[in-house]
Amino acid sequence: MRTNRDRQRRSAALALCLLLTVLAAACGKDGSPPVKGPAPEALPVYQVDQGFELPASPTWRKAERRGYLIVGAKEDQPYLGEKDPASGVYSGFDIEIARMMAASLGFEPKTIRFRTIASANRETALQNGQIDYYVGTYTINDMRKKLVGFAGPYYMAGQGLLVRTDENDIKGPQDLDGRTVCSAAGSTPYQRIAEDFPKAVLVAYDTYSICVDNLLTFQVDAVTTDDAILLGFAAKAPDEMKVVGKPFSEEPYGIGVPRNDNALRGALNDALETNEKNGNWKKAFEATLGRSGVPAPTPPPIDRYPAN
Ligand code: GLU
Repeated sequence: MRTNRDRQRRSAALALCLLLTVLAAACGKDGSPPVKGPAPEALPVYQVDQGFELPASPTWRKAERRGYLIVGAKEDQPYLGEKDPASGVYSGFDIEIARMMAASLGFEPKTIRFRTIASANRETALQNGQIDYYVGTYTINDMRKKLVGFAGPYYMAGQGLLVRTDENDIKGPQDLDGRTVCSAAGSTPYQRIAEDFPKAVLVAYDTYSICVDNLLTFQVDAVTTDDAILLGFAAKAPDEMKVVGKPFSEEPYGIGVPRNDNALRGALNDALETNEKNGNWKKAFEATLGRSGVPAPTPPPIDRYPAN
């Protein structure tokens, strides 16, 4: 029989391993392959729109002068936005969205310079012009629309809960009273727990991978964020963690752009529609997020809200 102590030790080792795995290093059993992104042949090839011009967009003009795009993303979210620490290469569904957008804006996708930006810092990064656009599990909502613009949505996620496999008492957010739950600072899931489930003991870190680490070392009882993110972590360590219950929110993922750059927002919406119609979106999904066990859904309708 495994004692609690054994389990904790095992989980601690696994936490370290998972962290490294998330960082895409080889870890675990002898001979297990290093975590790599999707096979290049499984990914769509995005045709660069060579003659494309968007003079009405200050962001596009700046990128054009610079010669490449700077895109904000996540680097530790399995199948969504992951950075290989050895090569520095980013991969995942959000990264594919960023790459297909680049091609439509007339830039070669492989010239994109990705910058890792945590949930709490996205608005400032866009407001300060540190990045041209942001693709990283970024929920569109009215509060954020006051600070930045959004193209999309390009995917619909929902808030969920990740627990250790031996946890039987947490099945939904209503079971969190007196339990510790971890989320990322500046995220909508964090805010929802704080507002709607005030009896939960909420802990915040910069990233969800730190939360997962805390879950595996028994420092917290659950991790909460979008199901798309949690399923990726669970798929990497299915013996240790499980996603429980039904999604309890709607999280429409948008591409963040500087607030007043309506020309860029419009061009990205056009590009999303084109790629959803020509099959690139589905192919990209299946090669990335689809690998965490989610079948390709029909993408949500694009919301071309008026300039505000
Ligand atoms: N989609 C949620 C948000 O934008 C959670 C994921 C994240 O923090 O990136 O706040």
